[in-house]
Amino acid sequence: MLTTVVGSYPVVMGKPESFMEKIKSTLGSYDPYQHALDAAVTDQVNAGVDLISDGQVREDMLQIFASHIPGMSVDDNKPVIEGKINPAPYSIGASDIKSALNTAKKINPDFGKNLDLFHGKDFNEGFKGIKGIITGPTTLALSSLIEGFYSKDKREEIVVDLAWALKKEAGFLQEAGAATIQIDEPYLSTGIADLKTARKAVDIITQNLSIPVTMHVCGELVNIWDELLRFKVDILDGEFAGQPKNLQILEDTNLKGKKLGLGCVNNKTDEIESREQVAEVIKKGIENLGKENIIADPDCGMRLRSQEAAYLKLKVMVETVKWLS
Ligand SMILES: [Zn+2]
Repeated sequence: MLTTVVGSYPVVMGKPESFMEKIKSTLGSYDPYQHALDAAVTDQVNAGVDLISDGQVREDMLQIFASHIPGMSVDDNKPVIEGKINPAPYSIGASDIKSALNTAKKINPDFGKNLDLFHGKDFNEGFKGIKGIITGPTTLALSSLIEGFYSKDKREEIVVDLAWALKKEAGFLQEAGAATIQIDEPYLSTGIADLKTARKAVDIITQNLSIPVTMHVCGELVNIWDELLRFKVDILDGEFAGQPKNLQILEDTNLKGKKLGLGCVNNKTDEIESREQVAEVIKKGIENLGKENIIADPDCGMRLRSQEAAYLKLKVMVETVKWLS
């Protein structure tokens, strides 16, 4: 069974230390987030995670896209839609994906080597790679203030325009070496999202991608699970440790050829689970769905945890997966 992360990781900022870094700092070209990115990748690789992320350390999941997509901006930390939404002419995340892959390869040369191992019918053990993450169009649209161009009752138009913008970014991330594109759509479980429009938008993004697509949705999924199964994605990812009601899904579902991202450690507390606690969730998944259909990960992003807790949670997750196989 492979292991992965949902995405965000504690941001550990550094200061310019080497001679080159100090010169760059003087010239204004020192990247203060590079240290956080390297730290996030190093922890994930050292914990033994197979499919890592770049840690999403630069900004939160909304701001990172709102600050780059034409037609959007960020005001007082909130995303704003102020004009016609268009694809950005450059990639927002490709250089971080490449940098993260390089850092991972220095620790374990297997990273990014056999992408085809992830494309088969089953997740092949031994695969090591990175995921490209985009915030879903529905989530971006519903969390933004609308201040121009679009009328407030035309959210569908915004969602679709955002989908075209994000499709371009998904292509860039695939080109940069991502093994899967993950679309984060936490708003789908809130009851305020139009699931039909959300599905149409995800279809736009995923069409023509050659790598598998993951969709991560947080929260309680019991009532929308059948709807989620209709999305054209390869992996559905949800929270199963901190949302015990979701465990019911494991007993009842037929994945219809999809795989399941099984959140098995709680991202909302620094308390480290025991192996037995993690195993309880994973075993439920294995018994009902078969281990070839499961990829284990934390419930959600770990940005708000301490670095130590984030690392230890990944470690106990990886150890438990090994223990059970
Ligand atoms: Zn989440």
